[in-house]
Amino acid sequence: MTASHTYITTTIPYVNARPHIGHALEVVQADVLARFRRQHADRVRFQAGTDDNSLKNVLAAQAAGQSVREFVDRNAEAFLALGPALSLTVDDFIRTSRDLRHRPGVERFWQACAAAGDLYRKRYEGLYCTGCEQFYSPAELRAGRCPEHDTEPQRVAEENWFFRLSRYGGALRAAITSGELRIEPAGRRNEVLAFIDGGLEDFSVSRPAERAGGWGIPVPGDPSQVIYVWFDALCNYVTALGYGTGDDAYRQWWVSAGRRVHLLGKGVLRFHAVYWPAMLLSSGQSLPTDIVVHDYLTAGGQKISKSSGSSADPVALAAEYGTDAVRWWLLREVPRVGDADFTIERMIARADDELANGLGNLVNRVVAMIARYRGGRVPGPQPVAAGGEDLTAAIRHADGRIAAALEDFDFRQATAAVWAIADEANRFINRVRPWELARAESADAAVTRQLDAVLRALFEACSALGRELAPFLPDAAARITDQCAPGDDGQLPAGSPVFRRLAPGSSARAAVSARGGH
Ligand SMILES: [Zn+2]
Repeated sequence: MTASHTYITTTIPYVNARPHIGHALEVVQADVLARFRRQHADRVRFQAGTDDNSLKNVLAAQAAGQSVREFVDRNAEAFLALGPALSLTVDDFIRTSRDLRHRPGVERFWQACAAAGDLYRKRYEGLYCTGCEQFYSPAELRAGRCPEHDTEPQRVAEENWFFRLSRYGGALRAAITSGELRIEPAGRRNEVLAFIDGGLEDFSVSRPAERAGGWGIPVPGDPSQVIYVWFDALCNYVTALGYGTGDDAYRQWWVSAGRRVHLLGKGVLRFHAVYWPAMLLSSGQSLPTDIVVHDYLTAGGQKISKSSGSSADPVALAAEYGTDAVRWWLLREVPRVGDADFTIERMIARADDELANGLGNLVNRVVAMIARYRGGRVPGPQPVAAGGEDLTAAIRHADGRIAAALEDFDFRQATAAVWAIADEANRFINRVRPWELARAESADAAVTRQLDAVLRALFEACSALGRELAPFLPDAAARITDQCAPGDDGQLPAGSPVFRRLAPGSSARAAVSARGGH
């Protein structure tokens, strides 16, 4: 059965620059979905990659005075480095210029659309934004400038191959309204439906080879043209599965997978929710089941650009502040709808407040109390401790709440369900005051039983945190789980902090200066 197979993809960014925190958002969201579904016995294939065949890369390489090959390779490496830096479980990483599976797949795709009668040559004149690799109608421009880049588009007149998008409006509308092709959130679905209802025009799917500097995949049977980079790039979702090379993975992960999930930013919605499904219909392939759209991040109130430098470089941030802090900010603070502003200060504040003080402190306290009051041995299963009902409920409902939130692709809601366990556990400690029970227990066996129940409930909360946190903060979850695993002697390992505070003036640094350090 392949119904439980889930194929999850991120977009393949242009490699005209190094990755920034906005790229990290999408891959971390995809990683959480992949990890959660694997944790629930689903088979998952998580794919990322880079779009090497863009004219934008050619221009950026020229500006940098480097060969396109060298320039593209170096930036693609930086995107690959996101994997270890952010603890991503990417199963496959496709590079459109290097991957041997890609070109035969794009060629087969092209030929399938041609066989369907959907490709034809036409002379065309229009306004082109190289940043977007897209023609714009005058009505789509803002004061004559690209709405995405705020640059003036070039007037381009050339003969190109066109794709008969106009044929597919009805079929696309039906797929979206029936839920066969789900677009989330709803506002984005409405945007796509409005675009379709405005009437779909055929779009150009090739460029003169000359203008592309020879970079890109030649049109089959017409070497004077190269395939439009978007047509080329979108194909990656099936070429990486072996659509053009007869690989069985294509059948398993595309044709009969239960879910085919694309994550993408709002700027490329039309390509993924209109052009791509129409290309799939034309070539006789299944549609994706889910298109998940995120908004943009800004850094310190500014649109993220190359000039943002290391303040928005996810690899540098993870090296300095830890993978957990970066992932937690992205998952916990970025809303389902609307842009979010990243600053290092906000990331540190969030990590210190919730990870170090909330979660970390809880685990350390519980382990320390079990060591102190029970010699490191966790009391066996107990009836629910008096006053522990809310905590028990938070533990019991966490997994279901996370599943429901992730089904809506609401990562903030999902992390809230995990956080609720820590929050309730800290409340419970303050309410039952285990240290007072410990002082009273020598005189009263009932108090001993009560303290056993309290420690057991808190231990179960920590174990649940290790389990439920795993898709979100895999590194931290592993440390918590280690901390909650009794050794051969039946004792919990000696406590070591599961999070360090990041802000200056933390207790560790304060202790150093109190001893006369710097
Ligand atoms: Zn643009």
